[in-house]
Amino acid sequence: AEDVRRVSGLIREVADFPQAGVLFRDLSPLLADAEGFRVVVDAMALHAAEGTDVVVGIESRGFLLGAAVAHKLGLGVVGVRKPGKLPAVAHRVDYDLEYGTAALELPEGTLAPGARALVVDDVLATGGTVEAACALVEYVGAEVSVVSVVMELAALNGRDRLAGRKVRSLLTV
Ligand code: 5GP
Repeated sequence: AEDVRRVSGLIREVADFPQAGVLFRDLSPLLADAEGFRVVVDAMALHAAEGTDVVVGIESRGFLLGAAVAHKLGLGVVGVRKPGKLPAVAHRVDYDLEYGTAALELPEGTLAPGARALVVDDVLATGGTVEAACALVEYVGAEVSVVSVVMELAALNGRDRLAGRKVRSLLTV
């Protein structure tokens, strides 16, 4: 916890991105730092202690974290992707963003029924994105063991949308 607090200073706050009025938390400098990346990946891997068979990373920043966490745990990794990227799609979920809509797709042949998946992303904001990823996992009969994020924006109540799933965040603002 102390390690995480120390490296959290590497997160950059960017005003008015991607649109006016939004304070964007940019984790790029944290991930670019050797110690920062190690501390964050090690801490997220501990979130899986409850039992996990596979890691699911959400495009794009969840790929960077999810792959490293999976390797650390000795597990495989699945990337859930924005539409149009995958040659074979097991399932697609459309969801609402604060402005507009988005979708995520699960690659075919990746999650066996009953598999316990650790769902990884960088930031939990309104929770729509993580909720869509969880819905993909559950659609194919797998289950979400834990949702793990680096940072949770508590004011947006993303946790409320994820009722019934365990949610762990390294930092809450
Ligand atoms: P949601 O509102 O669905 O929870 O967040 C939408 C997507 O945008 C998620 O993939 C989330 O990681 C990303 N996101 C939202 N706000 C921020 C932010 O302040 N910083 C970063 N790095 N990502 C964000």
